[in-house]
Amino acid sequence: MIDNELKKKKDCMGCHACLNICPQGCISMESDSEGFWYPAVDYNKCIECSLCVKACPVINKTTVNNEPKAYACFNNNEKIRLESSSGGIFTLIAEQIIDEGGVVFGAGFDYDFELIHSYVETKEELAKFRGSKYVQSKIGDVYHQVKEFLKKGRKVLFSGTPCQTAGLKSYLGQTYDNLLCIDIVCHGVPSPKVFNKYIDYRESSVSSTTRRIAFRLKDEGWKRYSVSFIFNNDTEYLQTFRQDLYMRAFLKDVCLRPSCYACEFKSLHRQSDLTLADFWGIQNILPEMDDDKGTSLIFVNSDSGHSILDKIKDKIIYKEVDINQAVKYNSTAIKSASYNSKRDKFFADLDSMPFDQLVNKYCSDRMGVVIKRKGKSLIYRLLKKIGLLRIIKGVYKY
Ligand SMILES: Cc1cc2nc3c(=O)[nH]c(=O)nc-3n(C[C@H](O)[C@H](O)[C@H](O)COP(=O)(O)OP(=O)(O)OC[C@H]3O[C@@H](n4cnc5c(N)ncnc54)[C@H](O)[C@@H]3O)c2cc1C
Ligand code: SF4
Ligand code: SF4
Ligand code: SF4
Repeated sequence: MIDNELKKKKDCMGCHACLNICPQGCISMESDSEGFWYPAVDYNKCIECSLCVKACPVINKTTVNNEPKAYACFNNNEKIRLESSSGGIFTLIAEQIIDEGGVVFGAGFDYDFELIHSYVETKEELAKFRGSKYVQSKIGDVYHQVKEFLKKGRKVLFSGTPCQTAGLKSYLGQTYDNLLCIDIVCHGVPSPKVFNKYIDYRESSVSSTTRRIAFRLKDEGWKRYSVSFIFNNDTEYLQTFRQDLYMRAFLKDVCLRPSCYACEFKSLHRQSDLTLADFWGIQNILPEMDDDKGTSLIFVNSDSGHSILDKIKDKIIYKEVDINQAVKYNSTAIKSASYNSKRDKFFADLDSMPFDQLVNKYCSDRMGVVIKRKGKSLIYRLLKKIGLLRIIKGVYKY
């Protein structure tokens, strides 16, 4: 069945569509030695109905023909915008769905910092979905829950990676007018095992457990975002993404899920209604929309996408842009991460090496790159110290 139907193990994206559809409940998702989930079938219970194979979006490919439009935009609510990874557009759309009596699905940490998909029905609860978390989120039986709400006629917003959106659509097997899907431009997802090892490393260095983790703090600006841990002993770890050990491993593409290196969903023709991304390069395309507080690039992929955008238009600043020009600065939208030749060795040493030594061994930059970056950082700090940075940023304020 599904566990030996895919040609190669690395094709499986861990989307959970097979688990959700199995009428016998005989599929479980098991972690491999790298910490990624793959389906395992209990053949004592399997009735060989093949539903799992039919629901797999890798085996049954979907072709999308649409004419997406691209916009630069950000939320007028500065507090929400600063709490979000890019322009805070996700929260606005989610609030609109809740105002219409709907339910919102997304990725949030549980009490133990495992990233899981779940749903909320109030605006206050949306905070747990806000902000990017750079680890694979576990879908569990969420597609099944989505279907139950849809059948009852409730509006549903599902947000996730493109492969999770594809998994949901493949599981549902039919369209629903009351379903809105948002995906993200997705660099790839690191292994939960690597993330857990990083949490252990941080906690042991302060002898405390963690209260909150944020990957995209904008204290030093959206483009120089920071990773933050707040611990239960009231101490904080704060480091810019280039210095943070975990982000170095993520951005060096050394710990991504194997499927992310040949992602099926790198395309401008997407199954979701809306796609959210960071508008990297905004300073070159629309400098008047770059105040370094976060600008979103969004693709509107369907009529439902246009309709929800219309409903939030008075709460955002937005401008249509040429999609091909925007993608020039955000090639992740159409191109997979490159396979890092050190990846296998990184995972081979994962269990035995301390986290800092592991990252320093496999994710260090060449000396030239380090010197160039240190020079830039020095200039940044100098400008900040003498008060010039605020003035320079003010010139570009929208
Ligand atoms: C793993 C990952 C990789 C990304 N890679 C890129 C990239 O290479 N280039 C780029 O331009 N943008 C990337 N993004 C998207 C971008 O960082 C923002 O998430 C997006 O612009 C939405 O921002 P926002 O300000 O509107 O809302 P935010 O509040 O920041 O976004 C929250 C949304 O992200 C979802 N989410 C958070 N973490 C996960 C996760 N692990 N899995 C599934 N859904 C999640 C939540 O469910 C919610 O829908 C990535 C996001 C993630 C999670
Ligand atoms: S063939 Fe049917 S019963 Fe067997 S694992 Fe697949 S979905 Fe479940
Ligand atoms: S349905 Fe998803 S989790 Fe199951 S085998 Fe296919 S890609 Fe993997
Ligand atoms: S890069 Fe592709 S396969 Fe990997 S998580 Fe993102 S959408 Fe899924």
